[in-house]
Amino acid sequence: MLPLMREEGYSYSFDPNACASCQGRCCTGESGYIYVNKIEVEKIAALLGLDVADFVQDYLYKKGYKYSLKEIKYNDSYECVFYDRANNGCGIYEARPTQCKTFPFWDYYKTRVEELKLECPGIKDD
Ligand code: SF4
Ligand code: SF4
Repeated sequence: MLPLMREEGYSYSFDPNACASCQGRCCTGESGYIYVNKIEVEKIAALLGLDVADFVQDYLYKKGYKYSLKEIKYNDSYECVFYDRANNGCGIYEARPTQCKTFPFWDYYKTRVEELKLECPGIKDD
């Protein structure tokens, strides 16, 4: 069993054991943005053994002045292009973006805990 995770300034904790049976709800579902910065792009491209330019073309799209990982449609919902459905995990785990590493401790959710609970079954009240 993995220990509960807590972050200062957040009213909830997170049980990482929930991920095993969750089927990647934070990587799938409604369409969203998975932002990556230049360093993250370089790391993911290196992990995949791709040139940065090829990686950008194949896996990213521009949203305003930022770049997001692409999504693919799966039935009636969407999922990150790197979500590994067969293994219920991230296909680029070692190089996943900060946005993914820091979930579910995002500023956005500090005041939206009930919304977060609907997305993530690992959220606890203490
Ligand atoms: S939604 Fe929560 S429990 Fe599910 S995979 Fe993501 S972090 Fe884990
Ligand atoms: S990069 Fe990995 S952790 Fe992040 S949304 Fe995609 S599959 Fe999930």
